[in-house]
Amino acid sequence: QKEFDNKGGVVVPKMPSFDYAPPPYTGPSAAEILSKRKEYLSPAMFYLYNKPLNVVDGKMQYLFDEKGRRYLDAFGGIATVCCGHCHPHVVDAIVNQTKRLQHSTILYLNHAIADLAEALANKLPGNLKVVFFTNSGTEANELAIMMARLYTGCHDIISLRNAYHGNAAGTMGATAQSNWKFNVIQSGVHHAINPDPYRGVFGSEGEKYAKDIQDLIQFGTSGNIAGFVSEAIQASPIFTGVGGIIELAPGYLPAAYNIIKKAGGLCIADEVQGGFARTGSHFWGFENHGVVPDIVTMAKGIGNGIPLGAVITTPEIAEVLTRRNYFNTFGGNPVCTAAGLAVLNVIEKEKLQDNAFVVGSYLKERLIALKDKHDLIGDVRGRGLMLGVELVTDHELKTPAKLETLHVLDQMKEIGVLVGKGGFYGNVFRITPPLCFSKEDADFLVDAMDYTMSKM
Ligand code: PLP
Repeated sequence: QKEFDNKGGVVVPKMPSFDYAPPPYTGPSAAEILSKRKEYLSPAMFYLYNKPLNVVDGKMQYLFDEKGRRYLDAFGGIATVCCGHCHPHVVDAIVNQTKRLQHSTILYLNHAIADLAEALANKLPGNLKVVFFTNSGTEANELAIMMARLYTGCHDIISLRNAYHGNAAGTMGATAQSNWKFNVIQSGVHHAINPDPYRGVFGSEGEKYAKDIQDLIQFGTSGNIAGFVSEAIQASPIFTGVGGIIELAPGYLPAAYNIIKKAGGLCIADEVQGGFARTGSHFWGFENHGVVPDIVTMAKGIGNGIPLGAVITTPEIAEVLTRRNYFNTFGGNPVCTAAGLAVLNVIEKEKLQDNAFVVGSYLKERLIALKDKHDLIGDVRGRGLMLGVELVTDHELKTPAKLETLHVLDQMKEIGVLVGKGGFYGNVFRITPPLCFSKEDADFLVDAMDYTMSKM
């Protein structure tokens, strides 16, 4: 239902009401923070907006700036804040654990790490039950790749083009786009064609893309490989270069897993963005494809924003780490693992997976309807609350609408909606809000996008 002003123009969409006012902010201004960042932080730091947003408070699906202005956060700290900003149960778990014991070491016993390991193992199928905690997704993927190499005695890894798996040597090797690479040897990784239903040569015929893996093994390796690493939906951390919410074409992952297993490799599912109920239909992204990986890596949603990651594998594969030393000072820190346990409880108690499914499906339907109205929208895709909207200036040629994307992004912020941006050409909106996102929030987001595009 649209409201019209007295001249017949559409009224700027209004944000749903929310009963919370943050305390007054007395810290430095946005300009002061920006000047310190320019002087003391890396020039490689990115900002989502030309005029960077200064966020000082967060509550559930909302962020607040220094003036107390509220924004609907449909980016979720890059698919990280899954329960909602400063969710009271997660905050309580962190505060209570911090007061009692802030840090120990895995060389002693502490219940928080064991409790979370047990709870995570119970969420996974098959014999995936041995957990290694890390501080980030990068570390989790580095460890998974190392395990696959140790277990198989092979070196070659296959990852997908357009993938992002992390920022250290091994994971940059697995990340597949030139902007992210550097010129030292990142050997042993082969990049297979990603099965992209919108831009890929085989459309949605997943099994056809899997043939490329067979070719890579045949022509680029000895015939035996260490493993294959892939997300279930290619998401990417920031901006341009990779990701863009590419759902792997149906049938691809089962076919790929078969080929990898025949070559003796292990299948690694990178669930850093797509795990923790985000896709709605299942708790893990890979479950949407009916496969069971050998190793699962996770981060982001696991701690609702607290630095935590994990690798989960079978006892047989985990045994390889007894053949060498592996140690991580902060991995499994009691405060982080207490937060992780609270996250799992909140997802279950508040039925956030069901909500991601119901609200995500509703939001996707509304976005598809918006595509029929605005030529600028070339594709709407994704599952649950992990959605992408790709903007193009020509539907046939799929010409990326880069400037238009920036404009809509900026204007939506002015109305009070924050979405992410990414994809190979930087022309995809990434919608990955906290999983408590409501239908009213979905309406507000779509109305804000509609309003902005109608004014262009
Ligand atoms: N894997 C995926 C799919 C990611 O999106 C990211 C980060 O965005 C990573 C791995 C790396 O995680 P982190 O930034 O926590 O090291």
